[in-house]
Amino acid sequence: MQPARRSKPASHWTEPDVRGALRAMQGWVCAYCLKDLADGDEVEHFRPKAQSLYWWLAYEFTNYFLACHGCNSPTNKGTRFPIEEGSARVVYETRDTLDAEGRLFADPSLDPVDEWFHVDLFRLDGLIKLEVRPQVVRGTVDRTRAQRTIDDLRLNLDPDVTQPRHRAFVDASKLHERNDILELRRRASRFQPQGLTYLAYLKDFLPEVSLPTSDEELSWFLAEVNRKVTEYDRLCRDGQADRQSDRRFEEILWMLAAFWVDPPALDVSRIEAWMDGHGFIALVGPLRDRLLPSAMLPRDTRRP
Ligand SMILES: [Zn+2]
Repeated sequence: MQPARRSKPASHWTEPDVRGALRAMQGWVCAYCLKDLADGDEVEHFRPKAQSLYWWLAYEFTNYFLACHGCNSPTNKGTRFPIEEGSARVVYETRDTLDAEGRLFADPSLDPVDEWFHVDLFRLDGLIKLEVRPQVVRGTVDRTRAQRTIDDLRLNLDPDVTQPRHRAFVDASKLHERNDILELRRRASRFQPQGLTYLAYLKDFLPEVSLPTSDEELSWFLAEVNRKVTEYDRLCRDGQADRQSDRRFEEILWMLAAFWVDPPALDVSRIEAWMDGHGFIALVGPLRDRLLPSAMLPRDTRRP
């Protein structure tokens, strides 16, 4: 027996708990092109939820990413999900074999994409050019996936993707001129838009400067989150908060709850100390409790 199918599933993936958990992985950065998502984003289904494809993954959290409208549009990723020639596409009946599917796209949550992709700075006709390139061994499955992702998502062709990357390079040069190395390092973080471009700049032009550590990346990001919350507080005081700003704030609380349960850096005690110091414990604690593994157990097996 198959589960009931809806022609158009209810969009549970737009809820603040889901989006907050995705923010804990990505911040406000498109999972594919690294564009700034401060002005809006979409929850993208990595394996498309189309009825002819992976409709049964419509509600699977591990299938979601935050992406820009461009990457989610039919000209770029859209409903594409290529698989290796001669391999079978996984369907509902064979879903247990999903991990072994011969997918051709890099999965930002499973694959070490920060190792697979790099921004190459090179000189051509006296100008500096930037292109995303695979940095994995030629002829491997990893390289095929990295290259196919670059090609199909038009990461070196779509001006909406390449222009922000060039602006980031110009910005990095200005920070270098001003000798603002701390800001350059801060922007070379995984939570920052175009982080790979700033990282490439540091490696190429300032090889003596240390690259950001995971702890630094998360600390800087938390400081940025706190600024967003301060801005929301100001909106509330001025009576200007609306449904959208309320939802964004709710997403931030869920994101902090996700950090508290499973921090990508620092550790639980340091995250907790940060939240205590910034007055988040009472707001985030109940959400954290709902994310704890014990909250997922059937009621009668929970400790009293
Ligand atoms: Zn994008």
